[in-house]
Amino acid sequence: MFDYLIVGAGFAGSVLAERLATRSNKKVLIVDKRSHIAGNAYDHYNEEGILVHKYGPHIFHTNSKDVFEYLGNFTDWRPYEHRVLASVDGQMVPMPINLDTINKLYGLNLTSFEVEEFFASVAEPVDVVKTSEDVVVSKVGRELYNKFFKNYTNKQWGLDPSQLDKSVTSRVPTRTNRDDRYFTDTYQAMPLHGYTRMFEKMLDHPNIKVMLNTDYHEIMDFIPFKEMIFTGPVDEYFDFKFGKLPYRSLEFKHETLNKEKHLAAPVVNYPNDNLYTRITEFKALTGQEHPKTALVYEYPQAEGDPYYPIPMPENAELYNKYKKLADETPNVHFVGRLATYKYYNMDQVVAQALTLYKKLTEKEKSTSPVLPAISGSSSLVEKLVSRSPQQE
Ligand code: FAD
Ligand code: UDP
Repeated sequence: MFDYLIVGAGFAGSVLAERLATRSNKKVLIVDKRSHIAGNAYDHYNEEGILVHKYGPHIFHTNSKDVFEYLGNFTDWRPYEHRVLASVDGQMVPMPINLDTINKLYGLNLTSFEVEEFFASVAEPVDVVKTSEDVVVSKVGRELYNKFFKNYTNKQWGLDPSQLDKSVTSRVPTRTNRDDRYFTDTYQAMPLHGYTRMFEKMLDHPNIKVMLNTDYHEIMDFIPFKEMIFTGPVDEYFDFKFGKLPYRSLEFKHETLNKEKHLAAPVVNYPNDNLYTRITEFKALTGQEHPKTALVYEYPQAEGDPYYPIPMPENAELYNKYKKLADETPNVHFVGRLATYKYYNMDQVVAQALTLYKKLTEKEKSTSPVLPAISGSSSLVEKLVSRSPQQE
């Protein structure tokens, strides 16, 4: 008899498997319908021997010391600060928009102070910032919004920014200095030997059995377990009882070129041209040296694997119905980006999983003593989720 059946071997499922097995001596079966562990963070060496991320670029960044140290138990890190250029009006300019973006785009030589004045002069007043359009036009005005955000967002989500919650474009700040990093988190690094290797270490424990190529429906009636941790799409778990929760999908087109370097930055965004949103050059992320180079192009799609929950009011309303049902379902715990319908980064999912682990151990505390969970993890999710780069 397994103590836990964990559905999904991504960050949410694997963190819980690791904690429950090593800290609480639980017997865990973790199943994934894919042929590999690591969920959407899965990476592998392609046919040319270049380390690539199958499901698009995954860059690790967090403000949580706890999360960074926790993952550090399973990997060494390669310091890496991510940088992105946007192809706009025939030029390659830094994204997020900063002082250099404006000077290059308009052929100016403004100072930080002057660019702040410039933003103030073009910003549109918005009473209450609600949508992803409001966030941008209230900061940098309509012209820059049109050049950098409107079309990219339409392509990525199949929706206008005015239809999306403010949290979506709030992920990308605006700066008046020359900082051209995509993220400003305290900890920014890539797992030295890749994500999959890190997950292998997490799951390498005699209490953990991993079953791949298996939908949990195929086994749940035959393999006895006490509790379930579910990290797949929450609407699917409940047979779409209240209707389908919309998720945005992507098609990834991978390519290897017979040259050492191709892009002017690790990622180039194409807000206004092409059917893809961005191109990533993996060697820039991983630091690998190789005479050839591997790229991935991201083509947004309505149908396909669910990659992004879509933050907008009606979807939140529908999710709340599922959440109520999930909360009322005994012995099943819902965690992760798909199961809690949250546009979470990897670190937020790790924090959420550590918090659930703490909750599970607390529930048990009265009967059997267990080792403490990672200190301070209880409020981790709240801390990480409430952060907004726009407040930088
Ligand atoms: P997942 O990784 O999706 O794992 C869920 C697993 O459950 C999947 O492997 C799935 O196969 C399995 N599953 C589902 N249903 C079943 C079933 N019925 N039976 C068995 N198994 C099932 N985050 C960052 O921090 N930095 C980034 O740069 C970044 N880039 C991203 C780029 C892209 C294109 C995408 C899509 C996401 C990116 N993320 C990034 C987010 C990151 O991928 C997620 O936060 C994280 O992987 C979520 O982990 P999870 O365990 O919740 O879900
Ligand atoms: N965005 C944009 N233009 C850009 C980059 C981002 O309009 O050049 C918007 C877009 O809506 C995108 C969101 O900001 O979906 C969040 O961007 P991020 O790079 O965080 O997306 P992710 O890496 O999660 O796909």
